[in-house]
Amino acid sequence: MSQSMSRRDALKVVGASGALAAAGLPVFGCATSKGHSGLDAAKNLLVTPDGRDFNPVDRTLPHLAPRLFAGENPEKGHRVLWDVKAAVAAGGGKIPEPTERVPVVIVGGGLGGLFSAYFLRQHQPVVLEAQARLGGNCRAESWHGIDYAIGAAYFMEPAHGSPLGKIYAEIGIDKLWRVKGDEDPVLFEGKVHKAFWDGETDPARAPEIKRLHRYFLDVLNENGQVFPDIPILDPNKRAYIDSIDKVSFRAHLEKVLGGPLHPHAEKILSLYMWSTFACTFDEASAAAGLNAYASEFGEVFVTPGGNAAVAENLLCHLMRTIPPANIRPSCLAFDVAVKDDGVVVAYEDQNQQLCSIHAQVVVMACPKFIAGRILEDIEPERAAAIKRLRYNSYLVGNVLLDGPVEADVYDVFLLGDGHVDLKDIQKATDRQRSADAIFATFARPDKERTVLSLYRGMPYPEARTAVYGDDSFDTYRRDFENQLISESLPGLGIDPKRIVDVRLARFGHPMPVPAIGMIAEGVCDTIRKPFRERVFFVEQDNWAYAALETSAIEAVTYCAEVEKRLRA
Ligand SMILES: Cc1cc2nc3c(=O)[nH]c(=O)nc-3n(C[C@H](O)[C@H](O)[C@H](O)COP(=O)(O)OP(=O)(O)OC[C@H]3O[C@@H](n4cnc5c(N)ncnc54)[C@H](O)[C@@H]3O)c2cc1C
Repeated sequence: MSQSMSRRDALKVVGASGALAAAGLPVFGCATSKGHSGLDAAKNLLVTPDGRDFNPVDRTLPHLAPRLFAGENPEKGHRVLWDVKAAVAAGGGKIPEPTERVPVVIVGGGLGGLFSAYFLRQHQPVVLEAQARLGGNCRAESWHGIDYAIGAAYFMEPAHGSPLGKIYAEIGIDKLWRVKGDEDPVLFEGKVHKAFWDGETDPARAPEIKRLHRYFLDVLNENGQVFPDIPILDPNKRAYIDSIDKVSFRAHLEKVLGGPLHPHAEKILSLYMWSTFACTFDEASAAAGLNAYASEFGEVFVTPGGNAAVAENLLCHLMRTIPPANIRPSCLAFDVAVKDDGVVVAYEDQNQQLCSIHAQVVVMACPKFIAGRILEDIEPERAAAIKRLRYNSYLVGNVLLDGPVEADVYDVFLLGDGHVDLKDIQKATDRQRSADAIFATFARPDKERTVLSLYRGMPYPEARTAVYGDDSFDTYRRDFENQLISESLPGLGIDPKRIVDVRLARFGHPMPVPAIGMIAEGVCDTIRKPFRERVFFVEQDNWAYAALETSAIEAVTYCAEVEKRLRA
């Protein structure tokens, strides 16, 4: 599948590197690139001065890991943010005066925070990250040297010569990736079909499936269609993107087809939206759905450890410029207050001590539901816009298997019998369990072992209580095992006896729902606009769209503004 346009090209369209250069930021020289072997050594340096490993890739686990969830550890966030007054009382009764003055504090060490830190590295930013490891949703684990994602798995090919492509080269990611093939495999009625969009699962009605396929390609290639870039960088596209943001992804596709979708298309698009955004294709806007799904027909890049490799490599390069003490894992910001001469950020550190730091500028790279709680004097309209964001929960199961698997595909959607009953979403998604399986060893196959990642988005709000429940690990582990043994492994031709372990990662509110109207009704514009010229927002929520490119593009946009502010 070839293409000329995808969400990656957005960066090229506006010449974002120009914006950074104009703002005096270091732009993508290759001066720091020392090749892959230099990076391997740097990975060992991702530790705090007191010896805490904050690498987004956890390479410390034994052959059999403890039966605990990886992913988000909610303890600190819930304890402090659900009752800030109590946390302050427990920490001595008041927020301490700042003990440091720095140019930039970045709240949140996911990709948005790390791209921002990288762009602003000449200002020696301090990065506060609530979790013990950096990376946010882009983290990974390792098993006998095989890195596998516990969150984000892949990204889109950057256009040749685009700023993002240059950053990938600068940080060495271009030496790690493998391009996914152009097949679209599904596991249907117990058998893998490699060409779903050619109508393989229902040859008699193949033209219906192929018509939709043609439409996605035309959108991607802008062949008589418009590709809906998100973030929107080309103002000329705004009116069209707004228009399709007002309708659901399903409604838009049905309009294009002039009638209902083929049941297999309905199912695969449901699985895709559950897996990609933990929401349904009836609640997602057509702008978001089309952006994501059409991009899948472009080139998809996969690195060992998934997108954690991007986080890790960004950090390795960052650490060449900033002191290790500036990266602060297990530090949760709970108050951000703009003052006359700067911004004071209060946080609880790794020892549960309250601290505060004064900055000229703050980049809030944490989710907006957190920003809404911790930003003092937030405007009512921004607070109201933030309340419109919804978040669902997510589980990822990594299946550790003995022996290699001769798989020439990367990801397989678990189509079952091709039908889905969407009247009750909770029932439908609980019955489905994982939507797709990814060969985590695709980018770097291993002769002795294989890791298969199962993705289970949970597009209904009650799931959060369930995943945080006391016995949830055992319950969900059984669920993963049952699906593996009864369906996924036999269908993929893998003997279930080869399972060594199933490791689970849990995320309570990892991604915003790209709901109808978030862009068209100005919600995104309101939540992402800078606050009192000192607080900037860089995160996937800016566009209610969870993807590496959203965070990267927003970092490019707003770091240029931060730079201007620091020079003012
Ligand atoms: C299971 C899963 C699979 C995905 N797959 C893909 C994929 O294949 N491709 C893709 O492009 N995208 C994927 N995504 C989405 C992608 O991971 C995100 O869009 C991207 O990583 C978002 O980065 P971010 O920095 O904007 O947000 P986050 O990753 O959410 O980072 C925010 C950070 O802020 C920290 N934080 C929160 N509150 C505080 C506080 N008070 N103080 C300090 N720190 C705080 C958090 O701990 C977190 O580290 C996936 C997401 C999930 C959950």
